[in-house]
Amino acid sequence: MTCELVFVGTELLLGDILNTNAQYLSRQLAALGISVLHQSVVGDNPERLRAVLETAFSRADTVLTTGGLGPTKDDLTKEVCAGLFQKKLILHEESLRRMRAYFAVKGIEMPQTNEKQAWMPEGAVIFENANGTAPGCAMEKDGKRLLMLPGPPREMKAMFERSALPYLQQFSDGMIRSREIRTFGIGESSMAQAVSDLLDRENPTVAPYAKSGEAMLRVTAKAKTEAETEALLDPVVQEIEQRLGGYIYGVDVPNIETAVVRELLRRNISVATAESATAGLVAKRLTDVPGASAVFGCGIVSYQNHIKEKLLGVDPQVLETDSAVCETVAVQMAQGAKRQSGADLAVSVTGLAGPGKDDRGRDPGLAYLALTDGTRTLTRTVCTGQTGPDCRDFNRTVFSSQALDLIRCYLRDFGDTASPAVKDCDA
Ligand code: AMP
Ligand code: MG
Repeated sequence: MTCELVFVGTELLLGDILNTNAQYLSRQLAALGISVLHQSVVGDNPERLRAVLETAFSRADTVLTTGGLGPTKDDLTKEVCAGLFQKKLILHEESLRRMRAYFAVKGIEMPQTNEKQAWMPEGAVIFENANGTAPGCAMEKDGKRLLMLPGPPREMKAMFERSALPYLQQFSDGMIRSREIRTFGIGESSMAQAVSDLLDRENPTVAPYAKSGEAMLRVTAKAKTEAETEALLDPVVQEIEQRLGGYIYGVDVPNIETAVVRELLRRNISVATAESATAGLVAKRLTDVPGASAVFGCGIVSYQNHIKEKLLGVDPQVLETDSAVCETVAVQMAQGAKRQSGADLAVSVTGLAGPGKDDRGRDPGLAYLALTDGTRTLTRTVCTGQTGPDCRDFNRTVFSSQALDLIRCYLRDFGDTASPAVKDCDA
């Protein structure tokens, strides 16, 4: 089966809303093993919509549309699609009853204009809308299939899962499965170089991606069954694991914070944070992971110098001579956080988020990180190289990722020997 997606709505063309339906449907169809060859966006205009559909059907046998099923005059997808397939629209009594009931629950009488939504192409398979009024449908003619789904993502997703997916599954000749190998500390190009021979493979394919200081490889296999896709994926994933080793923080984990918290939980090691430049972002990301409260007890945001002195015991002399952005301050912040929290580990961040230079003329993107377990202290200097007017957000994200990675590296290198430390009495 070859498939195209057509998204209908002038608001998409104007940039008023983001085409999130595109991402959702592309992912779902890929997982079904259905190749999506093109995606198009078209406004609420019947001639242009018809032209887009004709082009789509000249290249593919299956077209999915979203949008344009509303009750208003500009919603014309059904009319245009029915015209293209030379089908009449007929009143679908059951949909009309469902829509009346939908309004009745809210204590409102159904507006007359909504009746239009119950007129469906003759012979179509009707998809019930669990979260709204507009039904969707699928119709077939001469080996071509056209599926119409509503625009609002909540309605579209529910309808896709309940009705469109089982409908499409009958025609799918296989499935696609992917594994995501996530790395930290290696650039995208170095990563790609380490696996360059694998990037030319066919089944599974291996593709590199990069985002906010991280690099990832996606390995994708297509086969008839789940077991066959797994058999294709396993050896290639193992080969990549061997080559990238310690740079890999996880396979099919959503992000580095999840990998870190899972490892802390597994080993029952607690962590505290002391943050300046990131102002709580490390703590926020750790606690985004469900269950983090078992290993995270305290995060200190020490933005101004006098707070670094008062809460964390940072030496005012060092702040004076070396500034707040230096390795010694990072180490003292981590030590202070460990003392205050009684956690097994404490990690700290102090840096220049930007966009301006600091009073010593140093560029933004510079940060010092430290981690201490009371015995060992690890430090890391980060230089993102991002100094432009919009660098602040990026720099803070990367600093926080680096701090999470410092915890990861500690757990990787010393985790086995890390005994829960003696708690300080002033904790
Ligand atoms: P419609 O079915 O055309 O009446 O669409 C109704 C609403 O659904 C729009 O105003 C958008 O808020 C939302 N919507 C439509 N198409 C999309 C899309 N492709 N991605 C995300 N939201 C959409
Ligand atoms: Mg619309």
